[in-house]
Amino acid sequence: MQATIKQPKSEAGLSPAACSAPLDCDGYRKLLAAVEDDEKKSPRFHDYRKTLSWAVNQAKHYASKTGLTPEAILDAWESKRTYWYMNYYQPANQPSIESDNVRVFETVDDLLASIGKTGFRCPNCEAVSKSPYTCDSGVKAHGKVCDWKVYGLFGHMGKGVSVFVKEQLAIEQLFMPVAWEQNATRRKP
Ligand SMILES: [Zn+2]
Repeated sequence: MQATIKQPKSEAGLSPAACSAPLDCDGYRKLLAAVEDDEKKSPRFHDYRKTLSWAVNQAKHYASKTGLTPEAILDAWESKRTYWYMNYYQPANQPSIESDNVRVFETVDDLLASIGKTGFRCPNCEAVSKSPYTCDSGVKAHGKVCDWKVYGLFGHMGKGVSVFVKEQLAIEQLFMPVAWEQNATRRKP
C-alpha cells in the first residue's frame, strides 16, 4: 500500500483569541522578529500580533494533544515556513485537533507499519476501503457506489481516527484502519 500523508482539509475555525505568553525558543524569536519588522515597515496595516498570538496558541493546543512541547511545535513550524507568516499561520495549514483520541507516531513509516495492509473501514458503507480518505470499496450504499470522503462535510462521523506524525507535525483524519479495530470501539450503525 502506498498511502501518502497529505495536508488535512479541515476548515476548523480559529481558536478563541487570547493573550499568549511568549515561548522560549528560536521559532518564537524568529516569528516575533518578523512581526516587529512588519510593525515598523507597515504599522497597523494588518493585525500582526493577532497572528503571532494565534500561532502560539495553536502550538500550545498541538502540544496538549500530542505530548510534545509548544516550543518543539513552533520551532518545527518555523523551520518549515518559506513564506509570509500572515499567510502561513491559518486553520487550513495548522487545523485544530478536534479529537481527544489522537494517535501519535514518530514517522510516516511507523504509521504505515502500524496500519499494515488490511485497509480502512469506511464509516458510511462499513466495507473495507484501500484509501484512508475516499472510500473505494465499490459497495453500494444509499443507492449509489460509495465514495465517502473523510474530509467531506460529515468527516468520519466519529468512526475514524486522528493521527499525528511527529516528523511531519501534521494532524489528519483517516478512516479507521482495520488493523486497529480490536483496540477501538466500533459504533454499530
Ligand atoms: Zn464506503
